[in-house]
Amino acid sequence: MKAIIIGSGLGGLLSAAKLSNAGYEVEVFERLPIIGGRFTNIPYKGFQLSTGALHMLPHGPSGPLAQLLEEIGANVKIVRGKPVSVIRIPRKRGDTDYKYGHKDLLFENFRTPFTLFNRIKLIYYVISTRKNPPSGKSFEQWCKEHIDQDWTYRISDSFFGWALSLKAADVPVEEAFAIIENLYHFGGPGVPMGGCKAITDALTGVIQSNGGKIHTSSEVTGLKIENGNVKGVLVNGEEHLTDIVISDIGHAATSHMIGENTGITGMDDYAHTSDNLKPSAGIKICLSSDKPLIGHGGVLLTPYARRVNGINEVTNIDPELAPEGKHLTMAHQCVHWKDMDDLENEIELGLEDLKDIFAGKEYEVLLIQSYSNEWPVNRSPSGADLKNKTPIPNLYVVGDGAKGKGGIEVEGIALGVKNCMQELMI
Ligand code: FAD
Repeated sequence: MKAIIIGSGLGGLLSAAKLSNAGYEVEVFERLPIIGGRFTNIPYKGFQLSTGALHMLPHGPSGPLAQLLEEIGANVKIVRGKPVSVIRIPRKRGDTDYKYGHKDLLFENFRTPFTLFNRIKLIYYVISTRKNPPSGKSFEQWCKEHIDQDWTYRISDSFFGWALSLKAADVPVEEAFAIIENLYHFGGPGVPMGGCKAITDALTGVIQSNGGKIHTSSEVTGLKIENGNVKGVLVNGEEHLTDIVISDIGHAATSHMIGENTGITGMDDYAHTSDNLKPSAGIKICLSSDKPLIGHGGVLLTPYARRVNGINEVTNIDPELAPEGKHLTMAHQCVHWKDMDDLENEIELGLEDLKDIFAGKEYEVLLIQSYSNEWPVNRSPSGADLKNKTPIPNLYVVGDGAKGKGGIEVEGIALGVKNCMQELMI
């Protein structure tokens, strides 16, 4: 059996590695000259910056991605930060920004700023929502009805902004609770030693050792479809025949490749639904410093910043991600769809935040990257993901447009790939 994979992002490589382990003849076509999509490193001034991700796996060494990598035989060391996550709050109660100083709260103590009444309610909801998970509204709406306090909105916007590049108002409550459950189950984030590229390199190694081929600078421009099945792909005008196609380019781009008026059952609905998915957008600001700005390898959530949702400093775990004696710190901020036309202002607000968060500390801004549309933070906003199937029985979609339920970012990609492989009985 032969499988062609469109795109060498994490979703494509995980699928190719799984299929090649199962004995499939595998060929991956990637339009860029590099492998890894939004999950590889960009060497810059001696730093290992990244094409997308912040060198961090949401559930570290015990999450779905780490488990899948182990199952595949892709060896990567993933180290969890200590502390795993910290929340920066203003020093004085009642302050609404960091201007007059700040203090850090361990994530496990996130209940402290709630009123006593809300803390009691929270204990009740932790138990009751497990039996009866809420549904049909956004996480923010649910909070308004149950724990209406300024802190609720700040911490949830900061957490979901960091983890999903979404505001709590845009996260369906079902998905939010599935994510919280996974956090308890799998634990907090970790850093792959060597950064994102360590993972995509390890997967490339598995694929190639199984005889699989990865072609870079090879854009797939069309699908050959006959009698409702995909028979092959078009690359540089050449036809490559196959038994199945796995697309790592999202449902919208895949549906555009299938085209209109195909007569395939369900195609109109599929095209309409996938075109309506709004990718989540964000901005990443990479900083260099001689001294650590955070001092640990976990996440620093910043709920009192104007725009920055959270920051990590990966060199506290893997010093090789920066030149000797330097630290690499990365700040992430969600860009709401309504602010997409004013990215420069969003960047300015992020830079202002960093001045307050790291007041009195010296750092240099290395690179500012913005992500949207075709190169977003997530192709599908979490909670709106479509499944892996398409109206064409032997054409599947993987990646961050087809994440599994409750899976944050690459953990969701791993869950989605597992679901897809189950469909293929692998
Ligand atoms: P991609 O990586 O986009 O792969 C798709 C590939 O397909 C690309 O290489 C593309 O060039 C190729 N392609 C497209 N069209 C064609 C075509 N026609 N023919 C051939 N090839 C084609 N996740 C985390 O878990 N942790 C984080 O810390 C984190 N931080 C993030 C921070 C930012 C700023 C961003 C942008 C993302 C972050 N993410 C994070 C999300 C994570 O990076 C992505 O979800 C993941 O890398 C997406 O992988 P993918 O395989 O779905 O898609």
